[in-house]
Amino acid sequence: MNTTKSHAVFLPYPAQGHITPMLKLAKLLYHSKGFHITFINTEFNHKRLLRSRGPESVRGLPDFCFETIPDGLPESDQDTTQDIPALCEATRRTCPGKLKELILRIEKEEGVPPVTCIVADGAMGFAVYPAQELGLPAFLFFTTTACGFLGYLHYAQLVQRGYTPFKDESFFTDEYLNTPLDWVVGMKNARLRDMPTFIQTTDPDDIMVKINIKQCEDDAPRATGIILNTFDDLEHEALQAILSRLPNTYTVGPISPLVRCIPKSDPIESIGSNLWKEDAGCMEWLDKQAAASVVYVNYGSITTMTAEQLLEFAWGLAFSRHPFFWVLRGDVVRGSGAVLPKEFLEEIEGRGVIVGWCNQEDVLAHPAIGGYLSHCGWNSTIESIYEGVPMICWPFFAEQTTNCKYLCNEWGMGIEIGDNVKRGEVEAVVRELMEGEKGKEMRQKAGEWKVKARAAINVGGSSYRNLEKLVQEMNKFKS
Ligand code: UDP
Repeated sequence: MNTTKSHAVFLPYPAQGHITPMLKLAKLLYHSKGFHITFINTEFNHKRLLRSRGPESVRGLPDFCFETIPDGLPESDQDTTQDIPALCEATRRTCPGKLKELILRIEKEEGVPPVTCIVADGAMGFAVYPAQELGLPAFLFFTTTACGFLGYLHYAQLVQRGYTPFKDESFFTDEYLNTPLDWVVGMKNARLRDMPTFIQTTDPDDIMVKINIKQCEDDAPRATGIILNTFDDLEHEALQAILSRLPNTYTVGPISPLVRCIPKSDPIESIGSNLWKEDAGCMEWLDKQAAASVVYVNYGSITTMTAEQLLEFAWGLAFSRHPFFWVLRGDVVRGSGAVLPKEFLEEIEGRGVIVGWCNQEDVLAHPAIGGYLSHCGWNSTIESIYEGVPMICWPFFAEQTTNCKYLCNEWGMGIEIGDNVKRGEVEAVVRELMEGEKGKEMRQKAGEWKVKARAAINVGGSSYRNLEKLVQEMNKFKS
């Protein structure tokens, strides 16, 4: 038996924006810190990875093993995003027992070092209970911004103070959403609309409010440590507020570039997390475009919209006259496929490229990209910050509204499109970003954040030091 290695069991929440950063942290601990890793996917996502990336992506390596557990939802072979509230409820009900069983089983396997810690997604915070029963430390990785996480940490107070549930439908107004929340420590000029969107409900039993309160009030304080994929310079005040409640919080981001430094020839590089098949040909088109000339448009893995909204985006992009690279997931339009009219496709020929999924980090790193129209998911946002790409923000749900507030008001590298997207507004913000004075300022700011993000992960930077501390903490439990 190999007792010299720490053995971390990773349990991501089973959605793209969670699996990706969790897998990156797991790869980093394996490759640079000598850990043995067990990475748990749900059966549903295991099958999706087999379809999108082939068997080598989940075959594993001698010290990097994959396991599966059921997610508690009915079986399905769809390549679409699962219902998030239903998945939260089902995983919380099904997975604690399965996790415990799995750990007890793998520990009996020959050649497997004893499990020394659990690294669970914050959205799988229930892992702290089986961890306690097994006498194992549990680290919770909240894959949000610090400011988004701070928003969730305020959910209990938002309920106690009567802001949510909304009394009735008439409260869904700009006026109510603009209510200032000046008592929120660590978030300057916060308004109700800047809090993660799940509070925008009239249902007193809303599952997402209840689960987020549970994660923040019950699960997080029981964790040995909290991990965040951000860096201190970016979110100093929010972090101070978090640290006052959860002192063992480690900011280690942006994680991804550290993993991208692993040589392509390393066997760990065969392991990836994209649940959709990437369109490989699109980089050739980008290679032919002028520097900083292309608008990249991508709404991540969960955002959906109406067929009308899709058309407004389409014509807005076309009328802006700027080249664009648009990623449209097959399931992005609610109730139907993403169908675009023939006249639009003729209009944009040679000027616009549309694909179903891409390697986003490669795209954002491409010199042709001049701006990113985004749903403001945290992974996408920190990937854009790392590359110094300014953003047009169209937040969809969860803490994306909080990220949007920070991008636009605090970090100076974002400009917002209203909820009710209209082609004229899309055209105007794209022009502003690509040609206008504000666009220049945003590009300048984005460039400054790029330098700071790089400094954070370089030797001696805040995230570099925090990662060292986190690894030391994890290694304490090695026999
Ligand atoms: N992503 C990608 N290709 C795409 C769309 C998304 O590689 O075409 C990746 C992206 O780089 C990010 C993740 O999927 O790491 C999406 O996570 P995010 O938190 O931004 O949004 P979510 O999908 O959770 O809404």
